[in-house]
Amino acid sequence: MTAMFDLSGKTAVVTGANTGIGQGIAIALAGAGADVALVGRSSADETAEKIRALGRRAALIRADLSTIEPVQEVVDRTLAELGGLDILVNNAGIIRRADAVEFTEEDWDAVVDTNLKSVFFLCQAAGRHMIGQGRGKIINIASMLSFQGGIRVPSYTASKSGVAGLTKLLANEWAGKGVNVNAIAPGYIATNNTAALQADEARNRQILERIPSGRWGDPSDLGGAAVFLASSASDYVQGHVLAVDGGWLAR
Ligand code: NDP
Repeated sequence: MTAMFDLSGKTAVVTGANTGIGQGIAIALAGAGADVALVGRSSADETAEKIRALGRRAALIRADLSTIEPVQEVVDRTLAELGGLDILVNNAGIIRRADAVEFTEEDWDAVVDTNLKSVFFLCQAAGRHMIGQGRGKIINIASMLSFQGGIRVPSYTASKSGVAGLTKLLANEWAGKGVNVNAIAPGYIATNNTAALQADEARNRQILERIPSGRWGDPSDLGGAAVFLASSASDYVQGHVLAVDGGWLAR
């Protein structure tokens, strides 16, 4: 591994790491040398096993990020169990689908609270620690819908646009304090979240025709971008939202 991508001795927190993109990123960070705290409602035992097989340490932290109540505990337990906190990946997220004219307050709040409010307050809790130690890397998982409108997903689009804006604001405030704040905008990635789209033959065909790379992304496709943004290779990259989308946004 080129030294500038080496994460040996670093500790990462990844939210929503039991499956999908979060699992892919957690394993990639461990592959580059980091120990990883896996945060989520369900236990991320399978991810932890893979991380340990790579010779890294994994901590399992059960937390429901639909409220901001657990954010300080996530930071405190990571420090207590793994002895540091250098990298935060805000990946946990949900989506609710309905026409804008029928969209409910419940679906609005559920998505915005998890995808945006908890992301900010976990950035704040981790950021205080990172500013204190004079270094840190924050990676927020945004979306193509940080840039596009989408359809029938108003709270998701609002939350992911918000994540992109927040990433820039925090980069502005913290770049001078040794903390990098950037985001990754995944394209269509094959996970539980997108299983219904993959199963719908007509929709799946439409999606594949529209992706220049001609295939769905795999969670492992996000690993390189995550390691880059977590490592010293990205020390002068701030407030960037990096699309990893097989060319979707280039079209
Ligand atoms: P999955 O549905 O496969 O995974 C979502 C993860 O978020 C799970 O680990 C889940 O954990 C966790 N999570 C959800 N709600 C909460 C909560 N209240 N508290 C704690 N953890 C929670 O989704 P993906 O892997 O596809 O998505 C991961 C991220 O990537 C999301 O932010 C999503 O918006 C974004 N994204 C995904 C794209 C895709 O094509 N797949 C495209 C663009 C962005 P648990 O099971 O324990 O609830």
